[in-house]
Amino acid sequence: MKHVVVLMDGVADRPFAGLDGKTPLEAARTPNLDRLCAAGALGTLRTGAPGLPMGSDVGNMSVLGYDPRQYYSGRAPFEALAQGVKMDKGEIAFRANLVHVADGVMDDYSAGHMSTEDGRDLIKVLEKSLGGPKLRFVGGVQYRHLAMFKGSAFEGAKCTPPHDITGKPIEEYLPKGGGGKELRQIMEDSRLILEGHEVNRERRRAGKKTGNMVWFWGQGKAVAMPAFAARWGLKGSVITAVDLMRGLAKATGLEVIEVPGATGWIDSNFKGKAEAALKALAKKDFVYIHMEATDEAGHKGDAAAKVRAIELIDEVVVAALEQGLRGQDWRMLVTPDHATPLEARTHTDEAVPYFIYDSRQNGDGAGAKARYTEATARAAGKHFENGWELMAEFLQRQPAAKA
Ligand SMILES: [Zn+2]
Repeated sequence: MKHVVVLMDGVADRPFAGLDGKTPLEAARTPNLDRLCAAGALGTLRTGAPGLPMGSDVGNMSVLGYDPRQYYSGRAPFEALAQGVKMDKGEIAFRANLVHVADGVMDDYSAGHMSTEDGRDLIKVLEKSLGGPKLRFVGGVQYRHLAMFKGSAFEGAKCTPPHDITGKPIEEYLPKGGGGKELRQIMEDSRLILEGHEVNRERRRAGKKTGNMVWFWGQGKAVAMPAFAARWGLKGSVITAVDLMRGLAKATGLEVIEVPGATGWIDSNFKGKAEAALKALAKKDFVYIHMEATDEAGHKGDAAAKVRAIELIDEVVVAALEQGLRGQDWRMLVTPDHATPLEARTHTDEAVPYFIYDSRQNGDGAGAKARYTEATARAAGKHFENGWELMAEFLQRQPAAKA
């Protein structure tokens, strides 16, 4: 039995005025999804958990069959994992954004989407000036970097993502709680070091925003998740263009397949992703194809792009999978990791629609007899309040007791 997950990041939505009151799934032309869903089983699942941010890390963790309340330790540890950064014992990883603060207000969480070169230069000077046995900085991409603090107290700090406070005074959002005082001190110190640095002087001359402060958030201890193979008895692969997903794959021992031209947008190499999935399924029994374009379109509030992304996934990925797996026994799970409604332009935690197709039941009349949409899934009546329990239903087995 071959198992393939078609993960459309953030595809779930709400009726949208720009689509005549339809959701993108309702508005899209999806003959392949329609046919497979009609023969399959529809339902809804909740991928988030109370008290946890509704991020793609939490959502995809749930879909992979892991309870995020047990395994989610923060955003930064996953990014460390994705970048191949090893965390030492006792270290707490933080996201370290280079941000632009003006007159005490969070002006830009990305410091003008600065280049990786500028970002790494600035992180280097922070490491040189502020790093030591209790703190090290790790350069990442553009404005997104990491800082590792020694000491479990830092895990309990109350931090705020900088993109949540654009245009607001930073004072009340500075870290509080465990280690908060030290974090605030280093953020304060960073302003003096960064302000006069030549990279920022050059940016100012060129009319670009400076990275004039480091901002800590998203912290957690090193990720410790049981391997997917030990838990479910299946070897598998993940196909993705997104670092967080690569991290999740590494944390669970799933092979990451890199597809040239996979961009996370509607110009992505969908055909290459489908081909890579079929190639992997020739050797393994589980493949997770993660597609980001639907989420990006939701964040942009771009209805046409979201509909187009769904249609491309239907036309290129789903059609190729069905054709490539013909003659074999296979099951497919189609689901998002969370909703990214066009009107909200951010992740929301409502229940999302899924369907499971099983090639052995094709045409036996027992299927959903409906298209794959938010409303039809709700009407179907089947619901997983604990989204991580859906994987057992999809794989038709229970997770191993000790994994
Ligand atoms: Zn997502």
